This record gives sequence, C-alpha cells and structure tokens, in this order.
Amino acid sequence: MLQVVEGETLIGMDLSDLRSLFGPEQPAYRARQVYDALYKKQVANLSDISTLPQAFRYQLLTSLPLGLPEAEHRYDSSDGTRRYLLRLEDNRTVEAVLMPEEGRDTICISSQVGCPVDCRFCLTALMGLERNLTAGEIVGQVLYVARHNGLKATDTRMNVVMMGMGEPLLNLANVLKATRLLTDPEGIGISQKRITVSTSGIVPKIEELGRAEIRPKLAISLNASHEEQRRELMPITRKYHLADLMKACRAYPLRPWEKLTFEYVLLKNVNDTDADARRVVRLLSHLNSKVNLIALNPGPGIPFETPDPERVHSFQQILRRSLPCFVRKPRGRDIYAACGQLKRVASDLVTIV
Ligand code: SAH
Ligand code: SF4
Repeated sequence: MLQVVEGETLIGMDLSDLRSLFGPEQPAYRARQVYDALYKKQVANLSDISTLPQAFRYQLLTSLPLGLPEAEHRYDSSDGTRRYLLRLEDNRTVEAVLMPEEGRDTICISSQVGCPVDCRFCLTALMGLERNLTAGEIVGQVLYVARHNGLKATDTRMNVVMMGMGEPLLNLANVLKATRLLTDPEGIGISQKRITVSTSGIVPKIEELGRAEIRPKLAISLNASHEEQRRELMPITRKYHLADLMKACRAYPLRPWEKLTFEYVLLKNVNDTDADARRVVRLLSHLNSKVNLIALNPGPGIPFETPDPERVHSFQQILRRSLPCFVRKPRGRDIYAACGQLKRVASDLVTIV
C-alpha cells in the first residue's frame, strides 16, 4: 500500500516525497521514473506513464490524484492575454494569466486563494484569504497554462511571475518548494532568472527568502513614497514599516545578475505627484534596482482613479534620471486579467465581457 497523506497529489512531490510514498517495496529507480513523467514529460494522465508496470500504475491511479488543475473558464482578451479560472481539488478556484508578447511569454500565477493583505486598490483584497496553495497547485498552474498553449518550460521565451492572487511570502515554504520543482534542470527546468515573486513587503520573509539557495527574483510593491501614505494604501505597513522594508532591501543578497524590482501603482492625485516621484528616487536610488510603474487598473469597489498618461509620463521622467523605470502596459483589462483585478468567478462583482 502507498503511504498517502490526505489531500496530497502527485504534482508537488519532489524525489524524496515520491520515495517515501512508494516505500521499500518499489525498486529505487521508481521514484525517478515517476518524477520524469510528472515534470519532464509533463503527462496529463497517470495512464500515460507507459514505462510503469500495469499493476503499479493502477495502484497509483487509485491512491491519489495527479493534481493538475482544470479550467472552469477561459477568457480571451483582444490583446492576446488569456485569463484562466482554474479549479483545484477542493473545487476552490484561482486565476492564472498568460501574457504573450513579442519575444516572450509570461505566465502570471497565484500563490493563495484570495489574499489576507488589505491593499485598498486591489480587487483580490476584497476576497480575504481562503487558503494557501500547495506547492503542487502553484506548479500545476504553470504546467496547465504551458500545455494548453503549446509552450515549453525550458524555452527562454517563458517567464513566470507570482503576481496573481495572494501574498506569496505569506506562503513562503510552498512557494520555495514550487520554485525548486519549477527550476530543477532534471525536471521542469525553468531558469531561476525567469521566475519572479512579488511581495507587499513582509519583512521577515524577505530575509528568509534571501537565505534560500534556490529562489525566484524579488519584486517589491512599494506603491507609496512615504510611511504615512503607504500605511493608508497598504495596511500591512502598520506591521512592517517602510523604514524596515527599505532596510531589508538594502541587506538583500542579490545574485550577480539580479536587480531588485519595485512596483508602484499610480493612483490619481494620491501618490502620483512630482514630489512623490522625488521621494521615490530618494528611497531607491542607492539600491541596485529598477521600477515598474503601473497605472491603476480600475475595478468595482476600488475608490481610486487612473492617472492621465501625461502624469504617468512625467512621473517616469523624474525617476528615469536616477534609475531604470518602465511603465507596465496594462494587459487584458477588458477581461479583468490585469494587475489587481483577479477576483475568482465570473459572477462575482464583475461582469466579464
Ligand atoms: N501580493 C503580491 C503579488 C500580487 S499583486 C503583491 O502585492 O506584490 C501584483 C501587483 O499588482 C502588485 O505590485 C500590486 O501592487 C499590483 N496591483 C494591485 N492592485 C492593482 C490595481 N488595481 N491596479 C494596478 N496594479 C495593482
Ligand atoms: Fe494582496 Fe498583493 Fe492585492 Fe495587496 S496587492 S491585496 S498583497 S494581492
């Protein structure tokens, strides 16, 4: 009999998990065989693992699920963005978004069902937290979106960003395990340079992330130019002060090829003035960093407006004098797939076109 723990799935298991699952009755190479099938061949069904003896395959099939998500809905944007509502084993749903671009494909995945951080400009915040995703559910989103769009994980076009629903650093153990599985050259094989995790600024977890041997690149959602403003917009700042966040950023052990990315959501007449831009420069210019500006993606129940393009441009110009600064193109706004617009089901709050 296999030693199955309630709720476990095959996707999400590493080699040593598989070895303990199979126990001593199976030959030593069995775990590697299944690992290859799951992550290298990326089978969609256990019955496709033709190298396994039939009796063992049957035992696997009847003991635990493979753990790939199923799509409940797919929404296609006029700009090529695809938003997937993916159903998990417990019938909860999360969102994953594919953004194809000239020369690169970015898959944006979720780390939690909902989010416990209460950012005032974000639709996901309105859900609250339902639960953390398992490592398998994080990996499963990438495998699903790649398979259904004919993408190869090892292709250098492929990028993964953990910027969907949830605060990844509040689910760090699973995010790190998922990262190890996604980057294993003997398995899925995505380079660490092509995976990014974005956080609202959970200071102790930033330090813990920095200590991990295999870790994604780090992006930090700054979104304000001073403590008081940040506390207004992102209540998490009450617990993790801006000064401590900046200290953790200064101490963060960047790899030679890495820069810190800061994200800054521009809210009309709230944090988008020239004075804000100059304060952001003072906060960041001594760090090895770049900034991505995001003009607010509006949504029902979000009490802010999107700044005019000229304002966004002026803000960018001020930052540009001191550090690389880009404006993130809104993707899939027509299907509510853009940053901060992910909120579970079609009937929830938003009407999908
Ligand atoms: N929880 C993590 C990752 C998911 S949010 C984090 O906050 O970093 C991904 C990005 O979307 C963050 O930078 C966040 O600031 C931004 N965002 C949230 N709501 C938004 C909105 N309505 N418009 C534009 N960007 C938004
Ligand atoms: Fe959570 Fe990020 Fe949205 Fe804030 S911006 S509520 S941390 S998903």
